Amino acid sequence: MTTRRNFLKFTALAGSLFAFSKSKAASLVEESSIAASLPDGKVAKPIVISTWKHGLAANDGAWKILSANGAALDAVEKGVMVTEDDLTNLSVGLGGLPDRDGNVTLDASIMDEKGRCGGVAFLERIKHPISVARMVMEKTPHVLIVGSGAQKFALENGFNLEPKKLTAEAEKAYKDWLKKSDYKPMMNIENHDTIGMVAMDMSGNLSGSCTTSGLAYKINGRVGDSPIIGAGMYVDNEVGAACATGVGETVLRICGSYLVVELMRQGFSPKEACKKAIERLVAKNPNYKEVQVGFLAINKKGEHGAFALQKGFNYALADSTGNTLYDSEYYCK
Ligand code: ASP
Repeated sequence: MTTRRNFLKFTALAGSLFAFSKSKAASLVEESSIAASLPDGKVAKPIVISTWKHGLAANDGAWKILSANGAALDAVEKGVMVTEDDLTNLSVGLGGLPDRDGNVTLDASIMDEKGRCGGVAFLERIKHPISVARMVMEKTPHVLIVGSGAQKFALENGFNLEPKKLTAEAEKAYKDWLKKSDYKPMMNIENHDTIGMVAMDMSGNLSGSCTTSGLAYKINGRVGDSPIIGAGMYVDNEVGAACATGVGETVLRICGSYLVVELMRQGFSPKEACKKAIERLVAKNPNYKEVQVGFLAINKKGEHGAFALQKGFNYALADSTGNTLYDSEYYCK
């Protein structure tokens, strides 16, 4: 559509990382302010945590499996499928905001307690990228399949080709954006709404999942951290599991989720590990004040933690005591 014009604008602004408002920030701020403060300490298994307010519904889906003594792997797949199914969600699944050329392109990854992992990136017109990622993990010798190849693989394995059509809400937002076709510096906050989920089942096994439509109005073909094992999500069943949300480029630079798990291996608690990863991200990304990133983690003891760059990140925690939204602590005061 307006590719050349957009490209020129982008190149003029290259060097700074910009992003776009793509969520109902106001309502999230309101909900986040009524959430309880961050809990610390040990939580009995099973447990599932996931990013943002949409994590509540996703956790409900995961909890059905975990509470029936199901596997963490099934829980993290089915949990985030709830979010992918929600066409009102502007940042996950086919209801997501498009790239600058009007295409919704999806990224997802999944990893289990055996260290098996799979991902898809730049995938179009498939409703459940997380399930395609699981199929990559289980049915192929590969870890990551992208673009038209990923779509072909999905269709060959029983997924339906959905219509190429933006939802009414996404189309309206896109048309508004096209009026200026311009990036705006993104100060925080709830603009990044990937769902990342990590869970421990009754057997003490860990798994993780991550699925997103990525940054709104990105360059066609851009892939973020979410489908990259070790960036958007990572699991080591001996140590813990972690996932990320936010501006993927900053997370990719530090292999964020892998870093969180490795810090837990060194003995840091999940919250300390998330905090140290954010400090690393700050050190390696001079634009850190303009972006948001949040990490979530669970360790092998069933303890959990979160830490974000900016105020505004929240996460949902479900265990035997219920399913609750919590505000994360953050770096930039
Ligand atoms: N991490 C995602 C990406 O960079 C964006 C998000 O969390 O919304 O694609």
